[in-house]
Amino acid sequence: LIQLYQPLNFMGTVYREIKQATLDIEQMFSLIGKDPEIQDKPGALPLRVDAGEVRFEDVHFAYIPERPILKGISFTVPPGKTIAIVGPSGAGKSTISRLLFRFYEPNAGRILIDGQPIADVQQVSLRAAIGMVPQDTVLFNDTIEYNIRYGRPDASEAEVEEAARLAQIDRFIKSLPDGYATSVGERGLKLSGGEKQRVAIARTILKGPPVLVLDEATSALDSFTEKEIQDALDRVSEGRTTLVIAHRLSTVINADEIIVLDKGLIVERGSHPQLLAADGVYAALWNRQRQVDEAKATLQRATAEE
Ligand code: ATP
Repeated sequence: LIQLYQPLNFMGTVYREIKQATLDIEQMFSLIGKDPEIQDKPGALPLRVDAGEVRFEDVHFAYIPERPILKGISFTVPPGKTIAIVGPSGAGKSTISRLLFRFYEPNAGRILIDGQPIADVQQVSLRAAIGMVPQDTVLFNDTIEYNIRYGRPDASEAEVEEAARLAQIDRFIKSLPDGYATSVGERGLKLSGGEKQRVAIARTILKGPPVLVLDEATSALDSFTEKEIQDALDRVSEGRTTLVIAHRLSTVINADEIIVLDKGLIVERGSHPQLLAADGVYAALWNRQRQVDEAKATLQRATAEE
């Protein structure tokens, strides 16, 4: 028994650590892919965000040297505009957001926010300036109110409710027996993927970051939920510099510019109508996705009729 004790105790510690880690989404994100070597430079200053322009200049990156992932990526997200990054699975889309958070350092090239190389600023200030709506939101084992207020702990009750309203989740919350005081997570109510994501959007609205990264859900949501989430995302990205990492294509139609990434290179860029007219990689991705969506809709109708 004593022999068993140590490994069990160790497993308990690891389990507690993982649980603790998964509580904070951005922390979790950092654990998934952070190079622990990255430190603030001596004398690094806080990032000063003015207009909120994000710029990638000829960025090269490889997780392991023999396998380059980004091979010279340049783009600018003008202040308040939205750029969507699309491309086949494994093209390097999420890698771009990890580099923007400086969880990794480019091998060559630079990333700048309002003209300041992110490698030169304090990491705390960088992460404070960027809001993240992740694919899979992990909520705290606490009340809904706590989960939203986490975006800005000193927010008033009215501000929390306003954020929930903008994220289109307030009516749902009010319909719960304990309203905003309802516990969520393991010990409380289980929320659906779409509801959790809207809580994350409310939290981000409350945080009010000048730069936003939306990592769109990979899994298909039903079309009603997808529309609700889309409306909520449109609200949160209004007037903020936004980078949408699009694993599906439904959110990109209204982006100011769409960047198509393939094998680490930008192979096309332009607006949705421009890219459809170009009849290249984007148009092919779009048509394929439409076919899949239509097939799913037909299947759903057939199942419903049975
Ligand atoms: P998807 O749409 O499927 O999420 P993506 O375009 O976002 O894909 P990334 O997550 O950026 O793709 O990954 C790009 C490539 O880098 C993939 O081939 C992936 O296997 C690889 N990769 C990602 N993270 C790591 C890591 N920590 N170490 C090594 N390789 C990695």
